[in-house]
Amino acid sequence: MAFCRSSSRIVLSLVVLGLVCPARAEEADEVALLKDITVAANADGVTIRIDLSHPREATSHELKSPHRVWFDFPDTQVRSGTISRPVNHKLIKAVRAGQFSAEPPIARVVLDLSGDHSLKLARADEGRVLFIGLGKGGGRPEEKPARRPTVSVAGGEWAEEGDESARFVLRLSDMAPVRAFYLDDPERVVLDIEQACIAGPAADPSLRNGLACDVRMTQFESDVVRLVIELRSPAGFALRKLLNPARLELRLARGETRNRLVVIDPGHGGKDAGAKGYKAGLLEKDVVLDIGRRAAELLRGKGVRVVMTRDDDTFIPLSERPGMANNLGAHLFVSIHCNAMPEGKKGTRSGTEVYYHTPISSSFAEVMLKEFTDCTETTARGTLSRRFVVVREALMPSVLVETGYIDHPDEGAKLADPSFRQRCALGVVHGVMRYLERGDLKSVAALD
Ligand SMILES: [Zn+2]
Repeated sequence: MAFCRSSSRIVLSLVVLGLVCPARAEEADEVALLKDITVAANADGVTIRIDLSHPREATSHELKSPHRVWFDFPDTQVRSGTISRPVNHKLIKAVRAGQFSAEPPIARVVLDLSGDHSLKLARADEGRVLFIGLGKGGGRPEEKPARRPTVSVAGGEWAEEGDESARFVLRLSDMAPVRAFYLDDPERVVLDIEQACIAGPAADPSLRNGLACDVRMTQFESDVVRLVIELRSPAGFALRKLLNPARLELRLARGETRNRLVVIDPGHGGKDAGAKGYKAGLLEKDVVLDIGRRAAELLRGKGVRVVMTRDDDTFIPLSERPGMANNLGAHLFVSIHCNAMPEGKKGTRSGTEVYYHTPISSSFAEVMLKEFTDCTETTARGTLSRRFVVVREALMPSVLVETGYIDHPDEGAKLADPSFRQRCALGVVHGVMRYLERGDLKSVAALD
């Protein structure tokens, strides 16, 4: 194995003259890792220890029946994807962690409690460690010693550099577990190579391709090498593992946006008015038709082809809507709706949800929710998988955007306002464009 440096953090940042990246380089390295969870238990109580690579302030939430408390860590990746620690104590059954959201990266730690027990929280190591105590505590759980790296990253280089696509190859002494993820602000692809240490420079500093503007590699943890490729604008990526010799091949490509066909589906219509607004005369079918028309016009202005399932106040059966997109061979399908609470709970909820069903649609749903809520400043209530006909039957990436709650007095008043509907349309357009720019590569990423 090649020489491994002992310093815990080596930054090999390659400054390229004349190429300016949109934000400070170090920011890209600051997505924390949730490294491990350890538990100590005795007859009097339980103590849970959560170890992070960087200080993070978690938000906590509670759910009764069954009693559950969860903590969300912003800008954090769970190191091994998921962590499960059965405790089987009278106070708590288990602790588990998973990646709640990929973009933005949010790690969620869930405590499955046996009842309504109070928790004592304490932080240590400048916020890198969170202790959670139940009962009188179960002692002091220790962090497991860091695993020793067994693989060295000999270096990397561009194997192919074009204006619309590029290929970067990292040479390893042996194959290692790797995690790839995409982040924006600035747009970048990140590879975390486990059990590894740096033994060579990240890349030849002369970038000649039209996609990347910086490449840097750091010893992020004592046994995690992080490679960050910063992009000039959104692009798709796919990772391949190659053996003999061991290499990681990262393919980048700019997605096609011009002449892509998007089907916009304003919900309801005709005899089906959809949800009723907070005031008389405000109907979902009218609001979503207006948003859909505005979105279609904006998309056409960007060279995207658009077909609307309805462009007037007509009734269209549900399955005809995705059927239309399937027959046309559309690239994307976007259904637009307004939400409402049931009778007795009217006006109690506001915010945006994006629904999807097929696996190829989940990243489109995430991009759409982020772009939409950035434009409208509505509360992002999450992306949810549901068996709705329109998103279930479409063969292409498809989402249903519940723009906002029309029965809520404030949000309903916004949805009645044409300038807000223009922002909703812009949100849909940004979601579509951002997804198309990132291309289809992500869906074929070959990961562990
Ligand atoms: Zn609806």
